[in-house]
Amino acid sequence: MTFVSNHREPPVIVLGGGPVGVTAAWALTRAGVRVHLVEREPEPRTDWRASTFHPPTLELLDELGVAARMHAEGLTVPRYQYRDRREGLVAEFDFGVLKDETKYPHRLQLNQQHLVRMLVARLADEPDATLSYGIEATGITGDDEGVLVEGRGPSGPVSLRGSFLVAADGAGSTARRLLGVRFTGFTYPERFLIASTSADFRALIPDIADVNYVADPDEWLFLLRTVESWRAVYPVPVGQTYEEATDPAEMQARLQGIAPLPGGYEIGDRQIYNVHQRVADTFVAGRCALIGDAAHINSPLGGVGLNSGIHDAVDLARRLARVLLDGADATAELETFAEIRRQVAVEYVQADTKRNTERISERDEARRQANHAELSAVAADPDRARAWCRRASLLESVARFGIGLPPQDVRHREQAADATS
Ligand SMILES: Cc1cc2nc3c(=O)[nH]c(=O)nc-3n(C[C@H](O)[C@H](O)[C@H](O)COP(=O)(O)OP(=O)(O)OC[C@H]3O[C@@H](n4cnc5c(N)ncnc54)[C@H](O)[C@@H]3O)c2cc1C
Repeated sequence: MTFVSNHREPPVIVLGGGPVGVTAAWALTRAGVRVHLVEREPEPRTDWRASTFHPPTLELLDELGVAARMHAEGLTVPRYQYRDRREGLVAEFDFGVLKDETKYPHRLQLNQQHLVRMLVARLADEPDATLSYGIEATGITGDDEGVLVEGRGPSGPVSLRGSFLVAADGAGSTARRLLGVRFTGFTYPERFLIASTSADFRALIPDIADVNYVADPDEWLFLLRTVESWRAVYPVPVGQTYEEATDPAEMQARLQGIAPLPGGYEIGDRQIYNVHQRVADTFVAGRCALIGDAAHINSPLGGVGLNSGIHDAVDLARRLARVLLDGADATAELETFAEIRRQVAVEYVQADTKRNTERISERDEARRQANHAELSAVAADPDRARAWCRRASLLESVARFGIGLPPQDVRHREQAADATS
């Protein structure tokens, strides 16, 4: 069957070919909507960044036809731990408790560039998708008919017309700035350093899981395993320069402090980045919608930033497909998108990652002990542990709002929830 398509309309322009942009482009293409993906870099980025996919995200990616490939390449990780640098294991959570609710009761550890690679390969084969690399958007205007994106490409200025703009252009979003949307929140004083190593932390700290949040008043730590290597994330003291923090002797000392390794650590990639808690004041302006890091950024502690960005992408794609292919009301769909996705960003993603960051770095001894007591009590109680895992995996927010449900269905869910609370 041929799709009824938006072929009479200009395509949806997706700005940004990161993991969230390519997911939006692929979800739209799969639904029968023509897209034009525009990316500033000459080719897909391959730098190391997020590496965790949670259960509801895997379900969405399953619907998009890539979950099996991702599982073939990634690590399936059901258990994760909260630890204390001095005291060891504090609490262990097992997403296996979610097995009655999701097909994927685990985290999948896979670096985000692999998802980008898989989806770009599929988009490249789609006649309804145009991929333009090396074009940087510099101007956006819109009216009731559509949007006009202007930019610079390898051969000079370009002007692209679209029916809608999906802005997935990352934390420093040009679209957000051009649309005059404020990015409210704060930046943590310390930066985070990510170091990869070929050393196997499981051999050095035998009782750890593949994902571990390790509390310490001075030098908290986040240790996780990917197929390529282990990755340690730790804070860079305020005032320490990039050169000082990445000095090989300094990094070696930090890693030896985690677990002594005679002969020394082989250290691979390293990156330092600023960490923020910020949410755009609105996710929609006219026919333009912000998704992923362009709409919200957060601490990586919890691994939910990219996941919620993928949820934004699929939510918005389903709405735009209804608008362009079925004649649904664009205003109602975009308002619902903006309202619920912003609510998820504030009430779940920001709230939980902020709490995780405070918990892991707590300096007050009494509060530190109280945090540990709470975590181990939750882990020891099956009902509370299940509720914890539902929330940490974003299953709770998806159950509450759905992904891309028609506006009236979202309202019915809210009314039903209000009636039972
Ligand atoms: C160093 C680092 C480490 C991270 N580690 C983790 C982690 O461990 N866990 C976690 O959950 N999250 C982590 N994150 C965050 C995670 O990587 C992001 O949430 C994720 O990349 C968001 O995807 P995105 O597609 O929204 O944005 P991005 O991946 O930033 O993609 C945006 C794309 O838009 C393009 N672009 C920007 N401006 C323009 C323009 N004007 N015109 C055209 N194209 C443009 C960019 O080139 C880029 O390709 C990390 C981020 C960084 C920087």
